[in-house]
Amino acid sequence: MEYIESVLQDVALRNPNQPEFMQAVEEILHSLKPVIAKHPEYKDLKILERITEPERQIMFRVAWQDDAGKNHVNRGYRVEFNSAIGPFKGGLRFHPSVNLSIVKFLGFEQIFKNALTTLPMGGGKGGSEFDPKGKSDSEIMRFCQAFMTELYRHIGADTDVPAGDIGVGGREVGYMYGQYKRITNRSESMITGKGLHWGGSLVRTEATGYGLVYFVDEMLKGVKNGLDGATCVVSGSGNVAIYAVEKAQQLGAKCVAMSDSGGYIYDPDGIKLDTIKQLKEVERRRIKDYLEFHPGAKYVDGCGGIWDIPCKIALPSATQNEIDGEAAKTLLNNGVVAIGEGANMPSTPEAADMFVDAGVLYGPGKAANAGGVATSGLEMQQNDMRTSWCFEDVDSRLKNIMKSIYTSSSNAAEEYGCPGNLVVGANVAGFIKVANAMVDHGLM
Ligand code: NDP
Repeated sequence: MEYIESVLQDVALRNPNQPEFMQAVEEILHSLKPVIAKHPEYKDLKILERITEPERQIMFRVAWQDDAGKNHVNRGYRVEFNSAIGPFKGGLRFHPSVNLSIVKFLGFEQIFKNALTTLPMGGGKGGSEFDPKGKSDSEIMRFCQAFMTELYRHIGADTDVPAGDIGVGGREVGYMYGQYKRITNRSESMITGKGLHWGGSLVRTEATGYGLVYFVDEMLKGVKNGLDGATCVVSGSGNVAIYAVEKAQQLGAKCVAMSDSGGYIYDPDGIKLDTIKQLKEVERRRIKDYLEFHPGAKYVDGCGGIWDIPCKIALPSATQNEIDGEAAKTLLNNGVVAIGEGANMPSTPEAADMFVDAGVLYGPGKAANAGGVATSGLEMQQNDMRTSWCFEDVDSRLKNIMKSIYTSSSNAAEEYGCPGNLVVGANVAGFIKVANAMVDHGLM
C-alpha cells in the first residue's frame, strides 16, 4: 500500500542508522494494510505517523566508580514511546549491545504487547550499554544508583514504570528502587520485578517463561499430545529460558538444549534444571560448566548451532535476530511443529516469513512473551490495593491473560483475512486498541 510505504520512508529518513527499530516498524506497519484499508480515519488522523514517533526520548550520562576507584562513563536511555492506554511500561536492559535503535525497537514492540495483555499500560523501554558481566556486587550497586540518580525524575507509578530485561534482574531492580526511595522519599510502585518483601508479586520471576509455555500450549490445542513428550529446544539460560523450561517440563515436554552467549549444551536425557538454576541464578557461571555435573551432556562453542538440534517445539529466549533464514530452514526441515518466541524479535524477518509461509504454529514475541509485563501489571494492581495475592491466584490470572492474548490475536487474524497468522493477528489486535485510544484523546 502506497500510504504505508510513504510513512515507512519518512520514518527511515527521520531515524537513520537504526536498523533494529526500522525492522520492528516495517514488520508491524506491513501487517496493518488491511486495517488501514478498513479504517481510513487512522490515515486521516495520522495515527501511523504519530505512533512511530516516541512521545519522549531521554538519553543521559551515567558516571560511576569501580572497586579500584577508577571512574567510568556510560550512557543511559529511556524511550517513553506511547502512553495512550496507560503509564509507559517496559523493561531496562543492561548489555554492551544497547543503543538507541535497540531501545526504540523494544519500546515500539512494547506498545502493542502491553495492549494485548488487556491491562492499562503504555509502551516504553530503556537501558544502558553497561556490561554487568564480571562486575562485583558493589560495582553493580553503584552503577544502578548512578543510573537512577538521573532516571528518577522521569518515572513514577502513574507516569512511567520500568522493570527488568537482559542484565537487569531482582538485584538490579532492588538497587534502583532503593535509590529512587532515597531521593524522592516515596515508596511507590515505580518499578516492577520488586522483591517479595517490598511490593513484588509472586509469579513475576516465572511469568515470562511460564506465560510463553501457556501460550504455546494454547497454540498446540489441535496437535496430538501437545507438549506431552515433545522434544523442546530453548535458547538462552536467563530468566525467560529457565522458567520456560520449568513449565514445559511440568507439562511433560523433554527439553534437551539451552545456551548462553558462549555456546549451547545438549543433554539428550533432558536438561537438569536445578543445575542450570544453581549455575546461572546463584553462581552466575557459564553454561559450559553444566558438563562438570552431567558429563553425558555435550557443549558446543557458539550459540547459533542450537537450532540444528531436531525438535518439535523451539522456544528462542535469548535475544533479537538469533534465528536467521538458515536456522529457520533447518528447524523446518527437522519437522518443527511450533515456535514460541520468549525473546523479543528473535527471528529475522526472513525467518519469520518462512515460518508463516510453512504454516507451522508460530507465536511472535509480542504475544507469546507478554506474560512478563502482564504480571508486572498485576504487581502494580496489588501495590495500588496494598495487598498481595497467592501464587495460585497470580498464576491463574497469568494463564487467563495468555489464553486471551492467543484468542484475540487469532480472532484478529481471521477477521483481517489471514487466518492462523498470529503475527498479523497480534499486531492488528494490539494496534487497534492503542489507535482507538489515540483517536479518543484528540491530537497530541
Ligand atoms: P537474561 O539476562 O536473564 O538472559 C539472557 C540470556 O540470553 C542469557 O542466557 C544470555 O547469555 C543470552 N544472551 C543475551 N544476549 C545474547 C546475545 N547477543 N547472543 C546470544 N545470547 C545472548 O534476560 P531475559 O531472560 O530476561 O531476556 C531474554 C529475552 O527475553 C530478551 O529478548 C528480553 O527482551 C525478552 N523478554 C524478557 C522478559 C522478562 O520478563 N525478563 C519479558 C519479555 C521479553 P549470557 O548470560 O552469556 O549473556
